[in-house]
Amino acid sequence: MTEVFKGSFTQQEPLPEEAVAAALDVLGHGRLHRYNLKPGEVGETALLEQEFAAYTGARYCLANASGGAAMSTALRALGVGPGDVVLSNAFTLAPVPGAIASVGARPVFVETTEALTIDLDDLASKVVTTGARCLLLSHMRGHICDMDRLMAICDAAGLPVVEDCAHTMGAAWNGVPSGRHGVMGCYSTQTYKHMNSGEGGFLVTDDPDLAARAVLLSGSYMLYERHLAAPGPEVFERHRYDVPNISSRMDNLRAAILRPQLRRLDAQCAAWNARYRALEDGLRDTPGLQIIERPAAEAYVGSSFQVLLPGWVPEAVQDVVARCKARGVELKWFGAAEPAAFTSRYAHWRYAAPGRLPQTDRVLAGLVDMRLPLTFSLDDCAQIARIIRAEVSGVWQSNAAAE
Ligand SMILES: *Cc1c(COP(=O)(O)O)cnc(C)c1O
Repeated sequence: MTEVFKGSFTQQEPLPEEAVAAALDVLGHGRLHRYNLKPGEVGETALLEQEFAAYTGARYCLANASGGAAMSTALRALGVGPGDVVLSNAFTLAPVPGAIASVGARPVFVETTEALTIDLDDLASKVVTTGARCLLLSHMRGHICDMDRLMAICDAAGLPVVEDCAHTMGAAWNGVPSGRHGVMGCYSTQTYKHMNSGEGGFLVTDDPDLAARAVLLSGSYMLYERHLAAPGPEVFERHRYDVPNISSRMDNLRAAILRPQLRRLDAQCAAWNARYRALEDGLRDTPGLQIIERPAAEAYVGSSFQVLLPGWVPEAVQDVVARCKARGVELKWFGAAEPAAFTSRYAHWRYAAPGRLPQTDRVLAGLVDMRLPLTFSLDDCAQIARIIRAEVSGVWQSNAAAE
């Protein structure tokens, strides 16, 4: 009997009861705008920023309308503008080059390793040859590169690093939380990330001037003193006449549902990792399939799962994807010619006129990717692994036989 998986790869958990109650409270009083406060009231958004700053160990935090807005705000706060080159990972998702393009800058992509991280040799060379203004580093699918070496390369060149932590909220490298290596860290609270407010994001930094500029950019009018995780008014004095208001604030309703989620974030991360390991255990030593081994210095959050089918012809990878789909397992393939749903790759971002990146092409041609929602049980993960293992082995053997 061939087993079929019945779960949904896109169904997130319901929000905790505490979050529902907090949302009803905000809806009941109607003060959704973050600066709409009763005398003496602090507001959910300001409290959330204070709590997220404490969680990451950052001095300052700004809540944003989206992760993309956090990234473009970070670039603008740094003064990145039209014509500037911003380096970024070739393996990332569309909002990353989109944030670069939104400030008129030009993304230049850096090659990808088989660990799915940015290639540090290619980075070291492009830092010099492109005259880049900044690196927007994406910890794509939660894979963190050697951050100590990356920071050494960028610090030596005086290149500011902005981290895209959409997939690494709660993760760390060598004990330092993701988002705290570079000058600014950006996070997303969009439905498919580690906390769910539908849309939303954060920006964290220790730099008072960047923090003040980011707050002003987000559209604080002259109400920045209502923030709890922002620098003092003397810092705003230096910037308040020079920074445009590009409205991208978070509101109190979303902040209210995020605060209880932040309190349970570490437990959620542990639940993801248990599921990740169940998949990894079930797939280890499958012929033709390469597990992506995680470095000891990386405290990852396994909210998605990737494997490589290295050297496979496209037809065979597509065959695996189709067979798994027929058995209820939705794999995404990053080697497809056309962008599909959330999955696109650098060659599809033609507005950035990307050059060819042969090493990235080779890695992505064999990369299959899967969401790991917490609605899956550990048994679900073991079953998914059995299905993938059976289909990969079957296609691998018939292709080997055909040669
Ligand atoms: C989701 C995501 C973002 C930010 O997305 P928003 O939808 O704007 O919150 C940034 N980078 C990556 C890699 C993402 O997956």
